[in-house]
Amino acid sequence: MRLLIVSNRLPVSLTQKNGEFHSEKSAGGLVSGLSDYLGSLKKSSTEVTEYLWLGWPGISVNEKQKNIVREKIKSDFNAAPVFLSEKLMDKVYLGFCNKTIWPIFHYFPNYAVFDRDFWDEYKRVNEIFRDDLLDIIRPGDIIWIHDYHLMLLPQLLREKVSNPIGFFLHIPFPTYEVFRLLPHESRTRLLTGMLGADLIGFHTHDYSQYFLRCVLRILGLEHHMGRIDLSGRSIKVDTFPMGVDYNKFNKFQIPDPHPDLPDKKNLKIVLSVDRLDYSKGILNRLKGFELFLQKNPQWHGKVCLSMIVVPSRIGVDSYQEIKSSLDELVGFINGAYGNFRWTPVIYQFTSVPHETLIAMFRMSDVALLTPLRDGMNLVAKEYVASRNDKKGVLILSEFTGASKELSESIIINPNSIDEIAEAIKLALSIPEKDQIFNNSAMQLRLRRYDVTRWASDFVHLLNETRRLYSQSFRKKFITNEVLDKILSDHRKASEKILIVNYDGTLVPLSDIPKSTKPTPALLNLLKDIEGHTNTDIVILSGRSKENLERWLGNIPVNLTAEHGSWLKEHKYGEWTQLKTLSGDWKDDVLPILEVYTDRLPGAYIKEKDYSLSWHYQKSDIEQASYITRDLTDHLISITANMGIQIFQGNKVLEISNSGINKGDLARHWLNKKKYDFILAIGAGWSDELLFQSLPKRAYSIKVGLSPSEARYLLEKQSDVISLLKMLKEQKVGVTL
Ligand code: UDP
Repeated sequence: MRLLIVSNRLPVSLTQKNGEFHSEKSAGGLVSGLSDYLGSLKKSSTEVTEYLWLGWPGISVNEKQKNIVREKIKSDFNAAPVFLSEKLMDKVYLGFCNKTIWPIFHYFPNYAVFDRDFWDEYKRVNEIFRDDLLDIIRPGDIIWIHDYHLMLLPQLLREKVSNPIGFFLHIPFPTYEVFRLLPHESRTRLLTGMLGADLIGFHTHDYSQYFLRCVLRILGLEHHMGRIDLSGRSIKVDTFPMGVDYNKFNKFQIPDPHPDLPDKKNLKIVLSVDRLDYSKGILNRLKGFELFLQKNPQWHGKVCLSMIVVPSRIGVDSYQEIKSSLDELVGFINGAYGNFRWTPVIYQFTSVPHETLIAMFRMSDVALLTPLRDGMNLVAKEYVASRNDKKGVLILSEFTGASKELSESIIINPNSIDEIAEAIKLALSIPEKDQIFNNSAMQLRLRRYDVTRWASDFVHLLNETRRLYSQSFRKKFITNEVLDKILSDHRKASEKILIVNYDGTLVPLSDIPKSTKPTPALLNLLKDIEGHTNTDIVILSGRSKENLERWLGNIPVNLTAEHGSWLKEHKYGEWTQLKTLSGDWKDDVLPILEVYTDRLPGAYIKEKDYSLSWHYQKSDIEQASYITRDLTDHLISITANMGIQIFQGNKVLEISNSGINKGDLARHWLNKKKYDFILAIGAGWSDELLFQSLPKRAYSIKVGLSPSEARYLLEKQSDVISLLKMLKEQKVGVTL
């Protein structure tokens, strides 16, 4: 199986000189991590047999050059380019990506810019990625999309292909209160965009939970153990903390002596490595170091903070601002505390090659990593992995994803300058045996869950999610052969019956119950099926008999209202009861419903003859979800002997007399004639009893993706209407 990796940038940067293209492997955590995984594919036997990496190659390319570039990066890097102009890419990267998503997702809303053009460009780039990918995707490929630049892409592709799609977010996912700062359109589209994937991965459990909460609050979709059902698909949300190539860092041989390293003498080295970005907490780190020097004169001349700051393109304004403050603060500390023999802060504004980085990790006594927010922070893991002597102390911000796995380090809140200063003092005093003890525990974890394991776990679960999905649901989806069989059996039969649920089956589910009045087209369709094909129709509903009478009373269909409390056979035109029912229980249940109605703004009660319904379509979805659970428990406990049943509908709880269920109703109607064609269609869980009660030869169809007793599944409500139209026309050989 072929794995398509999709990321904003390819793992290669192209440059053009004298008409010739030159390629160079890019640096960065994602690239090196995934490259290690892809490299391991050749050696191990996995489900993935080949791969292709898709992304932007880093330069604008004209029409004539496209093929040259395609061939070059395919042969050198097993990659395929998505062609975009540098201008558009810059706009999107420096616009919506880094001025909107990045600050919001890293909890810096004051840096966020909300600009309509940014959003439009972001959509455009995601669409260009989709179009280029569509030329490349083959049936059987699995697609793994990476990071915040391409959050709309899963859904854009899902509309066009049925391949398994995975999405991984490498930055934090913020809490609902912060995420909702995004304008309505973008926040909704970003979520639905991601939900186009079959598997959505985050670095930490918290990010997964925040995402699920946003999906509930903004889209109103609940999840069950991280699984969301949407438009006939099941989407899994899970946590995969990205690891590092442990052996590469641990086993790396450093040339001795390394030319780029400082002369350590008797100096203790506190090291930090990060990109220039406000999220990295670089200024707080310097302030913390300064406070440490201020409070601990005994360390003067004996310790230095060695900072590697990698230039990055976060946008001119914030970049300049932070760079100037950084230069100023370093100058201030060195001027205030240093002397000719000792420079307290050594600061390099450059990126360094991996081997120098590993050498620096190994010679430092302390690593001081203080991001105010960081999706993972690979540097922390790389530091621990590099220490083949198991020595060194890691001070790590609690706001990094990595802190969840590196709990033996000194965990600090980087907003507190005092905590940073105290942590430096503590780190310098930790005995070697304790350092070895702590690092051994962390190394064990990093070795076991390394980057190859991270990627293979993700790809495996992506495949598994799809496999389970196919096994449990796909095989039940109506094929064209089944459809033909239903239609021809219907045409040949002499006594036919169609038993169909109303809400969610004949009409779409809606938060406004009144809005799903049958359209004239639907009424005509039902009339025609009855008249032209001589089929008896039974409509099952939990609605009141008055409601059904008003909407469906004038067409030749049989009705059951209030979950079977009332029946009306069309030819007699009278509402009757299957059993003598009592509504006395309502006196006990109503006061309880009233208490919960007061607790949930927007909730209201509807009283019918033999049932009560408690609606919360207009309420806050999350609050409603908790309160409904409480109410259901409460009702179950006090109504155990009352002979009533409770149904959970679409944002409504229905309470009615027990003893009549859809199975009893079906039997009642089926006993009226010797039917040789039976078709039952339902959408809710109460329809399961209907499906169970039918004879084997009956056709039963469930709308939506969930385990069902029905013989077949239809993906969506509108498919029911298509099927009914085919029944009416009695045509065989057509498709849904
Ligand atoms: N890195 C590097 N050279 C440098 C500094 C950093 O190759 O001079 C690498 C580092 O080894 C790590 C990545 O850049 O793999 C930074 O990843 P991290 O998750 O720490 O932060 P990000 O920059 O992705 O926010």
